[in-house]
Amino acid sequence: MTRVLVVEDDPQLVRALRINLQARKFEVESATDGGTALRLAATRTPDVIVLDLGLPDMDGIDVIKAVRQTGRVPILVLSARHTSEDKIRALDAGADDYVTKPFSVDELLARLRAAVRRSESPEPSEETVLVTTEDFTVDLVAKKVRRDGRDVRLTPTEWHLLEILITHPGRLISQRQLLLEVWGPTYGDKANYLRVYMAQLRRKLEADPSHPRYLITEPGMGYRFEG
Ligand code: CA
Repeated sequence: MTRVLVVEDDPQLVRALRINLQARKFEVESATDGGTALRLAATRTPDVIVLDLGLPDMDGIDVIKAVRQTGRVPILVLSARHTSEDKIRALDAGADDYVTKPFSVDELLARLRAAVRRSESPEPSEETVLVTTEDFTVDLVAKKVRRDGRDVRLTPTEWHLLEILITHPGRLISQRQLLLEVWGPTYGDKANYLRVYMAQLRRKLEADPSHPRYLITEPGMGYRFEG
């Protein structure tokens, strides 16, 4: 049974989540503040955490940072905030995904299951050498991409971007994280670089670059690879 820790200070939402999650065979624990959440995260070893960012005693971002110091349990953020900045901060702090309030239970469950599934699949290792889609194949060791029986030539920067995305399938990677990893610490705000390079990658890999199927943009947030 999958154990979910719901961290949310709105009692009605906690109750609704509890009913819906239990109906789908999740085991549910809940905390209404950050301090309790950290205690339960440490003692009850949940399989996944659903975390509201606006808590009465501490910033949800600090809850994420504290949980990340001790482990890799997936964290799905609930955000009522309209700006994407908090969501980006949450992702950069180590959250795995986010759902914006108000959300449908189905959407939350889909994200929850995906987060749990990703955490259960082993980290990409030396044995994961080939990533195959219907349109192209990526060899992570040889650093080669093939499409329609031909090698696709990528620049080192394009390769680095693609490598980060395809080794985290389904996971939203924030713009800032990609910029920091590919270009370095002084480029954290150069989202336009990313747009240019993602457009180049799509032209090389996507059948219809203007309607990408694999290299997906989450507007204002980041990118994800759907295999
Ligand atoms: Ca709240």
